[in-house]
Parts: sequence; structure tokens; C-alpha cells
Amino acid sequence: MSTGLDALPGLLDCMHCGLCLQACPTYTETSSETDSPRGRLFLMRAVAEDRLAVADAMPALERCVQCRACEPACPSKVPYSEILHEHMEIHAKASGQMSNWLGSSVRMKLAGKVLRFGRQSGLLKLAASLPNKRLRRAANMVPHKPKLYRPKPGAEFEAAGDQRGVVALHLGCVEAELFGHNIQDSIATLTAEGFKVVCPPQLGCCGAAAAHDGDSQAGRESGQQSLAQLQGFDAIIVPAAGCAAFLGSLDSNAGVVDPMIFLARAGLRGSLKAVKRAVVYATPCHRQNVIGDAEEMRTAMLAIPGLELLESEESEMCCGAGGSAFLREPELTDAIGQRKAKFLQQTGATQVVSGNPGCAMQLEAKLRERDAKMQIVHPISLLRESLGV
Ligand code: SF4
Ligand code: SF4
Repeated sequence: MSTGLDALPGLLDCMHCGLCLQACPTYTETSSETDSPRGRLFLMRAVAEDRLAVADAMPALERCVQCRACEPACPSKVPYSEILHEHMEIHAKASGQMSNWLGSSVRMKLAGKVLRFGRQSGLLKLAASLPNKRLRRAANMVPHKPKLYRPKPGAEFEAAGDQRGVVALHLGCVEAELFGHNIQDSIATLTAEGFKVVCPPQLGCCGAAAAHDGDSQAGRESGQQSLAQLQGFDAIIVPAAGCAAFLGSLDSNAGVVDPMIFLARAGLRGSLKAVKRAVVYATPCHRQNVIGDAEEMRTAMLAIPGLELLESEESEMCCGAGGSAFLREPELTDAIGQRKAKFLQQTGATQVVSGNPGCAMQLEAKLRERDAKMQIVHPISLLRESLGV
């Protein structure tokens, strides 16, 4: 396997202009060149050219929250994420240090179950008082009211009235274990709007966690398996933006789409009641920088009468929950999350809209630390409320 520059196409396209720096949450937080996209590309190039030991580059690379905000900001279209994933995979494999703990759907679901049990039984309160910072942080990130909802493999939910189509629903690992209400709201809204919902047996994870943890190959294989199970329907509905971005990147023609956006494109047949509330949209990076439908989501939300959609300062900046940096670099990702929560709270909104479980966990924890009484909701929950179904 090549470990040189030819294994990292696009790396030499970086002309060191620095136009990506202001989009980067880690650079914004620390103002350190090694915490910038340009700095990280420079380090990966030095490793590829044998001018730097892998171990010396790794700390800076592991601090990247993988939000990909540097990519749309780059005039040279440097494929930063592909380069980073390739670099991590080459060197983790070469050193035999591939942990890939996050790469298994079984382990991800198990972690979700343990965390939900810990929160519901009160055990997480004990973890929160432990001296270990990482444990405390992980305990703090679990939502205060986790909800499990995982329909049985093969479960089908019939459309109300005339059927307009049949869609497959991707449940996700963490989404179904901790944010089951989003799955319930997706099913209720889709069926009310005339779409039969099928939950095919889903043995595999979407693969994003494995890829972010340094094993792109395992991530791709897991994602392809999931896509194969979800084929043959009018659309693949994915409520979690992170899963949607990864599955969509594996096959842009697979029909992967968020439930709210799917219904907006299909056209609503139910009438919408007013939801008189000021909310702020915490755009998931996956939607903003990878899928590219963040504006479409805003437009879909604005169709709900009475809903006031506020914008926070730095609205396109990551919340710090991306990738697996939150496990390895809690101080940095905490600081990024606190900054985000401050700007969200300053809007005066009563709810924060987020369609991604990682962001929802991070934001709920950071808003709680600020004693901000802001609830996190998925866009589809607002639509369900407006439709009254
Ligand atoms: S992916 Fe995000 S955190 Fe990483 S270098 Fe790019 S902008 Fe910075
Ligand atoms: S904007 Fe693109 S070309 Fe410029 S420094 Fe960043 S990655 Fe390199």
C-alpha cells in the first residue's frame, strides 16, 4: 500500500491561501495553525514526504471535529475529508493501532442502551461526580429524557388514506436508542401524509462512525450493507443528518433524504396549524457542508405558519460533536460547544432545532450547563405538531 503523496490525491492542490481558516471551529477556538485545515494538510504532506513522523502529526489531526466547513470555503476544492480519512486509515493500519471501537453497530447500539439505562436509573449521576474528566463529560452528554423506539425488523406502517408511495426508514444506532421520539414522529408524519413506511432488517450501521474513527474501509462496507438492505423503495428516509450524509456519499442516487425534506418535496396534503414559537436552527454540519440542503430545510420549516426561525451568530459553525474528537479532546470540543450554546441562547428562542443526534446531545448538555431553558427538537417533530397527527 502506498503511503506517499500519490495515496492522497488533491493534497498538493492546497495553495496555503488560508481562506478556510475562519470557517474552522478548532482554529477559531485556539488560533493555532496546527488546529487549522491548512496546518493539518501541511502536516499530512510532511508525513507523506517522510519529513515528519506520523506520531508527531496525529495529535493535531485527532483534534479535527470533521465538520468539513473548510471544504466549501476552499477555492481550490481541496478534498480535505477524503485526504484526512485516507491518511488516518493508511497510518492506523500500518501501525496496527486501528481501534475501530465506534465501527460496530452492535457496540454503538450497546453503548446507547447502557447510556440510556444509566440515565434512567440515575447511575450516570454517580459518573458525573467522578474525577475522570472524560467519564464526566460522556455522562453529561446523555440526554436527560432518552427514549428508545426501535420497530421490529421488517415492521410496516400503513399509509393513511390514498397511498402515495412506500419508503424505507433507516433507524440508526444512537437515534433509535436515545432519540426514539424522532423515529416515531417520522413514521406518524409520513404515514399521515400517505406514505407507507417499512423498516427493513437493518443489521449494519451507516458506517459513518467507523470512517470518522479511522477505518474508512469498514465504514464503506457497513454503509453499503445498510444501503443494500434499504433498496427498492421510493426513498430511503434517514432522520439523522450524519447517517444521511455518509450513506448519500456512498451512492448519491440511492434516494437518501431527511423526512422533513422528503415531504416538502412531495408536497403536503394535510393542512398546517400555527405553531407560534420562536426557534433557532442549529444546522448540522453534515447538512450544511456535505448534503448541501440546509437552505431547503429552512424553507420547509418556514412553511409552518406562526413559526419564527431565528438565526444565531456563527450559525454555520460546528457545535463540536463531529467525528470522534469529543472522545479524545474533551476540553477543545467543550469549548466549541460552549461558544455555540452561548450564541444559541442569545437569540432568545425557546427551542433549538437539530436533526442530528450527536449535535442534539452536545447542545442539550452545553445549554444545560448555561441553565438555558431551551428544548432540542427535530424538524419533523415541528411538522408533526403543525399537522396535528
Ligand atoms: S473539518 Fe472542520 S475542524 Fe476539521 S479542519 Fe476542516 S473546518 Fe477545521
Ligand atoms: S482554503 Fe483550500 S487552498 Fe486555501 S489553505 Fe485552505 S485548504 Fe488550502
